[in-house]
Amino acid sequence: ETIAGTDFDALLARIADDVQPLVSQGKVASYIPRLAQVPADRFGMAVATLDGRRFSIGDAGTAFSIQSISKVFSLSMALDALGGDLWQRVGREPSGSPYNSLVQLEDERGIPRNPFINAGALVVADVVLSKRRDGLDALLAFIRERAGNADIQVDTDVAESEALAGFRNAALTNFIRSFGNIEQPVEAVLDFYFRQCAIAMSCEDLALAFLHQADGGRCRRTGVQVISPVRARRINSLMLTCGTYDAAGDFAFHVGLPAKSGVGGGIAAVVPGALALAVWSPGLDERGNSLAGTAALARFTELTGWSIF
Ligand code: GLN
Repeated sequence: ETIAGTDFDALLARIADDVQPLVSQGKVASYIPRLAQVPADRFGMAVATLDGRRFSIGDAGTAFSIQSISKVFSLSMALDALGGDLWQRVGREPSGSPYNSLVQLEDERGIPRNPFINAGALVVADVVLSKRRDGLDALLAFIRERAGNADIQVDTDVAESEALAGFRNAALTNFIRSFGNIEQPVEAVLDFYFRQCAIAMSCEDLALAFLHQADGGRCRRTGVQVISPVRARRINSLMLTCGTYDAAGDFAFHVGLPAKSGVGGGIAAVVPGALALAVWSPGLDERGNSLAGTAALARFTELTGWSIF
């Protein structure tokens, strides 16, 4: 199928229909108490094409907690700050472990496996904060500009809720700091990290905010070269290998697109050279990825053939 010739409205309607039985079957994240209050029966999906078209279905306009999807944006900023030197502080290998795992850090002397597990994202947050005190404002500005939506905000209730229950992330940050791979005060890093995770966006926002990842780092809406083509390609490779944690192999098998998930139930994905898309459904599978969302993306590549493979 060609992008130009595709009836996206019909495609999204069909996908929404096909995955409907799975919506509500997953488990809404509850370790962040505020997230547990989100209704499980939501489903939304949005597509933004490089030729400027937008499509959406269901709850695609509803803002939700992007959680770990934010790690793609913070990685872009950290690479901007440190360039390739970032890779002395965080690796590029899939972890095969849950997103919040501590176990590999001891053997690896505080160098997290990749920037998308929590440990890696905490180091990335430290890098951003070391570069600029207004790191969170800069991150928000970056996201608003990419999505073309000045109203995108941090949901402070979610950030506070996670801070109150964030013992694992506090442990990770302290442990990494003990190896010298966190430079800023632990409280500052955690505060930044919980807030970046608590940014609220809709599928429509996310599809637009990821569009430059589908276009060699260029943002068509603003004409800005956001990141270099090589960097965009490399971030996509990390999304493919690490973006869905210990489900990345399965995800590549069933979906075959660079994608980043979050425990809020969102997943953003890109078809390089063609489009970006985002899906949201709060019920998660055992690995912390949206159950209906993953199924919807699998259906998307099944019906269109647009897996990168
Ligand atoms: N804020 C969440 C955490 O640190 C993000 C995890 C996720 O979305 N996978 O646990």
